[in-house]
Amino acid sequence: MQKTPAPINMSVFELLKSGPGPSSSHTIGPMRAGFDFVNRLKEMDVHFLSQARGVRVRLLGSLSATGEGHGTDRAVIAGLMGHDPTSCPPALLNELNEMEQDKRLLSAGPLRLKISVDNVEYGPIHHEYPYSNTLFIDLLDTPYPSDTPAPPVMPSLISSSRPDPLAGNILFSMEYYSVGGGFLQWNGWEPSERGQPPYPYATMRELQMRLEESGLSLDKLLLENETAITGCSPGQIRDDLDNILEIMKSSVRRGYEARGRLPGSIGLRRKAGSLYDRSASLEPFDRALSLLNAYAYGAAEENAAGNIIVTAPTCGSAGVLPAVAVFMQQHLCLDEAAQRKGLLAATAIGFLAKQNAGIAGAEVGCQGEVGVASAMAAAMLAHARGYSARVVENAAEIALEHHLGLTCDPVGGYVQIPCIERNAVGAVKAYNAAIIAANEDVAAHLVTYDDTLRAMAEIGRDMNSKYKETSTGGLAVCLAQC
Ligand code: SF4
Repeated sequence: MQKTPAPINMSVFELLKSGPGPSSSHTIGPMRAGFDFVNRLKEMDVHFLSQARGVRVRLLGSLSATGEGHGTDRAVIAGLMGHDPTSCPPALLNELNEMEQDKRLLSAGPLRLKISVDNVEYGPIHHEYPYSNTLFIDLLDTPYPSDTPAPPVMPSLISSSRPDPLAGNILFSMEYYSVGGGFLQWNGWEPSERGQPPYPYATMRELQMRLEESGLSLDKLLLENETAITGCSPGQIRDDLDNILEIMKSSVRRGYEARGRLPGSIGLRRKAGSLYDRSASLEPFDRALSLLNAYAYGAAEENAAGNIIVTAPTCGSAGVLPAVAVFMQQHLCLDEAAQRKGLLAATAIGFLAKQNAGIAGAEVGCQGEVGVASAMAAAMLAHARGYSARVVENAAEIALEHHLGLTCDPVGGYVQIPCIERNAVGAVKAYNAAIIAANEDVAAHLVTYDDTLRAMAEIGRDMNSKYKETSTGGLAVCLAQC
């Protein structure tokens, strides 16, 4: 018998959160792991902490395969220095390697440990832990890295048992999982206590039933659930949504105003600015489309540069929703209230994808990142324009359906090729999906969003791991061989 999924009780601001790029699972999740680890140490007995001499971070799975290109090492060290993604200055990650050693400290009670990216070790890509993006953080009673080289770690040793290639002892250890979209879990993790949503749903079918029973609009239902889950007032939630929208739009603006090359060995030039500038000479239809592209490039390039973006639902796909939000404001004259309502509708689409399939490239490929972002943006646009919840669902379904099977194969391990361009294509697909959904016979639309999520989950399970953010297959390999 099939298990009934639990009702969704995620907060909007767990899905949509600001932080530094370029990857929610490789940057934001690991930074949160470092931050969580140091906070746990702060709670510990002073005498126990006085035995500590070193800290070691070990990255496994996709974190190991593409962590260097994604800046995972610097992110987790910044977390251990006491920074969390919402407050970490983005420049810190770029300056970390040059920073004086005395300033790169893990501080907890009396404990002061000098740390750097040398504390980070890259483990095997294939392992048996429950999530691909697994990392360990160990507090040691010996300095790390030590002057005496540790015996080499044999990949075969690292499966479900812990390797201990150290001269000393592990005093305290955490096994973290970066499960996509910046969400973090650990061995023994339990969901935190929170309020129960008054309109529970775990599938789109149930959500449509709740809407019919309650007579509420989609955004109103989500607002009521969010109020109950978080305990925040509707006014506070609206302010926070406006803040998220503003951060999204600012990432678009900064992106198309910036020039030059993006960080990393590819030497990729930013393109948002030239797309934006050249659109002025185009015919109206081409101009609008070119600007939508420029907006998506802008935010995606800011993400690739490690600057502040909003996970929507991830960093790699952080250009799609902001591009459509700016387009709604600039070209469709939809006001702030409509944008906010649209954003709430988009979160329902993202919640369902996270709960029933996955939103991490390392778990399901890019269909879960740009595919879901495109579905969220299509829903945002359809709801903001006042279409029914059925049209909103169909818009999201169409956008996601035509991303099914999309692999994650970032060239060189950087969130640049194909990611940036893919955000622009995802934004245009979202716009088109909303147009199709709004102009077809709603009842004639046979595929539901739940069907497409089931397909995405199945395809994600069957997808070879070389197409799941490991940069060992697809474009990542073919381009490198050219
Ligand atoms: S290819 Fe897609 S899933 Fe992979 S890193 Fe790029 S945006 Fe993320």
